[in-house]
Amino acid sequence: MGAGAVGAGCAWRLAKAGHSVTLIDPSLGSPPPSGERSGPLDSGTVASLGILMGLVFRRSSGRAWRLRRRSMELWPQWAEELGDQEQPLQLQTPLVQVAATAEEGLRMQALAEERESSGLRFLSQEHLQRQHPDWPGGEHGALHSAQDGRIDPLALLKALRKQLTRLDVTLISEAVTRIRRAQPSPALIGKPWTLELHSSGLLETDQVVICSALAAQPLLTELGHQRAMEPVLGQVLDLELAEPSAPCSPWPAVLVCQGINLVRQGASANGRQRLWLGATLEPGTQADPQALNQLLSLQGQAPAWLQRATVVQHWQGLRARPIDRPAPLLEVLEPGLILASGHYRNGVLLAPATAEWVCEQITTRR
Ligand SMILES: Cc1cc2nc3c(=O)[nH]c(=O)nc-3n(C[C@H](O)[C@H](O)[C@H](O)COP(=O)(O)OP(=O)(O)OC[C@H]3O[C@@H](n4cnc5c(N)ncnc54)[C@H](O)[C@@H]3O)c2cc1C
Repeated sequence: MGAGAVGAGCAWRLAKAGHSVTLIDPSLGSPPPSGERSGPLDSGTVASLGILMGLVFRRSSGRAWRLRRRSMELWPQWAEELGDQEQPLQLQTPLVQVAATAEEGLRMQALAEERESSGLRFLSQEHLQRQHPDWPGGEHGALHSAQDGRIDPLALLKALRKQLTRLDVTLISEAVTRIRRAQPSPALIGKPWTLELHSSGLLETDQVVICSALAAQPLLTELGHQRAMEPVLGQVLDLELAEPSAPCSPWPAVLVCQGINLVRQGASANGRQRLWLGATLEPGTQADPQALNQLLSLQGQAPAWLQRATVVQHWQGLRARPIDRPAPLLEVLEPGLILASGHYRNGVLLAPATAEWVCEQITTRR
């Protein structure tokens, strides 16, 4: 259940591995949005920037690092298998993270040395001044990652939907309102789970994979599993730049400055460059106009060309952050009840490693 990047990704990998899969999500009644976004959005994936920030992760051990590294290994294969001639799915690279302080610059330098073979390199302050004078910040250098970058989340959803149809995955446009353990009976052997759907009755199944982000919580509570998550709102701005020639130096797929992502989007119909700015980190579900101002001013570091930009679109979405547990929540809660939710800030990045983990759990059980 859940057809965001995580759920649709899991369904695709499971169907490819030969399992019989049904995907349930009220959003399946219409095609994924094709470009325009505004206001509050229900799907975290639709709201997201699609940034794949895997190899610049600071730690070099632990589950969080392993999941990131594995996803970054899998992404080129996902892009190739999901895209086709009509709609190629491209990984846009590189990603550059600008150091906010001298200490951060030193840490980045050490990381670049350690992960040179993974495509990381440090850009010095002199290099930035000479080559990229119109990038914001830059007094302390920057970390350049050749393999990190971004995937268009809407193109990803579209490609997943196409592959799911090709693989005959049953798509049900409904919300799951309750998950029940079936009463033991000879007729139900192998189908120990019953899903109650909003209007089309019951569905019996041997395995349930819950990929519904924040909406997983109430369903699990009813089954006696407490997996608390809290919403963290994110706002995104789609800007049109005033001058056709600014910024003039080469721009990476993603530039991260003061923790804010600047993602170049190509040109509008009028020839003006578009740029996404995002995303804010706001606890709760209410958007704060102050946070939006901070975003627009790049925490006070916005260069003149950015200050002259016009806002074309503005949207917001919710991230599911697990409380008192690390993100994401990947657990087999009971035989046949698998939780793959709570990806917080990295659900798009971690979709491939999550799907691989889910497939392993199901194959092992079989
Ligand atoms: C503004 C913003 C920017 C972000 N940027 C990035 C980024 O750059 N990179 C990155 O990796 N991550 C990013 N994230 C985080 C990322 O969007 C999430 O981690 C990711 O989308 C989670 O994917 P998901 O499939 O678990 O959830 P979602 O995409 O939210 O999908 C959950 C699905 O479950 C469905 N659902 C809900 N209830 C039910 C029910 N009862 N029955 C059936 N279906 C149900 C919903 O309709 C929805 O389609 C961002 C998030 C936000 C808000």
